[in-house]
Amino acid sequence: MEKKTIVVATGNAHKLREIAEIFPEYRIISQREAGFSGEAEETGKTFTENAVIKAETACRALSMPVLADDSGICAEALGGAPGVYSARYAGEHGNDRANRALLLKNLKNTDNRRAYFESAVALVFPDGKTVTATGRTYGYILTEEHGTGGFGYDPIFFSDDLQKSFGDATAEEKNAVSHRFRALTALREKTGGELQ
Ligand code: IMP
Repeated sequence: MEKKTIVVATGNAHKLREIAEIFPEYRIISQREAGFSGEAEETGKTFTENAVIKAETACRALSMPVLADDSGICAEALGGAPGVYSARYAGEHGNDRANRALLLKNLKNTDNRRAYFESAVALVFPDGKTVTATGRTYGYILTEEHGTGGFGYDPIFFSDDLQKSFGDATAEEKNAVSHRFRALTALREKTGGELQ
């Protein structure tokens, strides 16, 4: 049987791949592949607000259901920063290396390195129906990079669940415990097991 298609409001190839790995039963395509190359302004104060903004913008343009993920890392000692600013923490949007370096610098003089990744996902339908869910994964920020796997802050995040950095984890290992996996699993439960 042909797989159902889910459009994801992201330009981040890493996120797209992880979502496809977590939901192998669906054909996962980017909003650009679906015909929308605009970009929503992430003006929300929470991950959930931003996920809804991204999904709504693409859903309105494409007139089809759209899934979005907004995510980031939150350090306890920094009051939850970088949080919703994770992608542009060091100024330039999507400069992962600079973002990691700034987080390491800002945690230099603290013993509390506890942190978590959070993912908020939103599924928005053309009739306005909106379903959201969140997921977290806990650990701490290492003092230097470990491994080259994953993306973003993965090489400096030591996972409580895996007892290794996400940078040292395989895709299967990360996807079994990740914030994104937990948010998407919760979303699937909320929609009764079928995303669409
Ligand atoms: P967004 O695309 O606005 O949601 O930005 C998410 C940012 O958070 C990315 O640029 C990454 O830096 C970070 N991030 C989110 N999820 C992950 C992950 O699974 N691993 C590492 N970094 C992540």
